[in-house]
Amino acid sequence: MTNLLFQTDAYVKEFDATVTAVEGNAVALDRTAFYPGGGGQPNDVGMLTAGGQTWAVSKVRKANNEVWHEVDGEPPAVGAGVRGIIDWDRRYWLMRTHTAMHILCGVIFRDYGASVTGGNMEPLKGRMDFEFESMRQELVREIEAKINVEVAAARPTRVKILPREEAFQIPDLIRTKINLLPEGIAEVRTVEIVGLDLQADGGTHVANTSEVGAIRVVDYKSKGKINKRIEIEIGT
Ligand SMILES: [Zn+2]
Repeated sequence: MTNLLFQTDAYVKEFDATVTAVEGNAVALDRTAFYPGGGGQPNDVGMLTAGGQTWAVSKVRKANNEVWHEVDGEPPAVGAGVRGIIDWDRRYWLMRTHTAMHILCGVIFRDYGASVTGGNMEPLKGRMDFEFESMRQELVREIEAKINVEVAAARPTRVKILPREEAFQIPDLIRTKINLLPEGIAEVRTVEIVGLDLQADGGTHVANTSEVGAIRVVDYKSKGKINKRIEIEIGT
């Protein structure tokens, strides 16, 4: 079982670990700061190094509580000590983007009562789908102004890992469809933007909304009477 360093500290850029298994060109580690993807956030990339050798990590995935790092060339052997180095520019862009997405869904629920149904992101850019019947083009600039107020408010973010039963008592989490979590999950990780948004979430976020920087709403699409898509971008 891989210890997921990013779950409790999103700012770990480099770490030491031991190879616990090798399958083809993929290595499992006892601990990792590489995000394996999920919840709309893509996996990290970067490199592993050991004894003067370097392997590019091009893909990372989670399977059965192990995080697998796909490397180029002959992988390091089981038992080898390696240093993992995250492509930090890209990851930090994803952290800022992910927090921007939570600001957007927090504001849209608070001010318009609309729930999010899905979303996806890449570095500096994301889209979210809402059940938002009253959404229209004229609201775009208003929403953009409101989300930037929350950036300027410099709200802290907080991550907690709660027992399932405790998490299921929290009204904000019930709203975000926590009941859809698989039965086998004993603990729920929550990400809170203090005073704005609280969700069950596995992703990596910045510590304060001020780190996101200015958010632009770059596109809005009606996907039907109820379903509306909003796309945002942030700057480097
Ligand atoms: Zn999220």
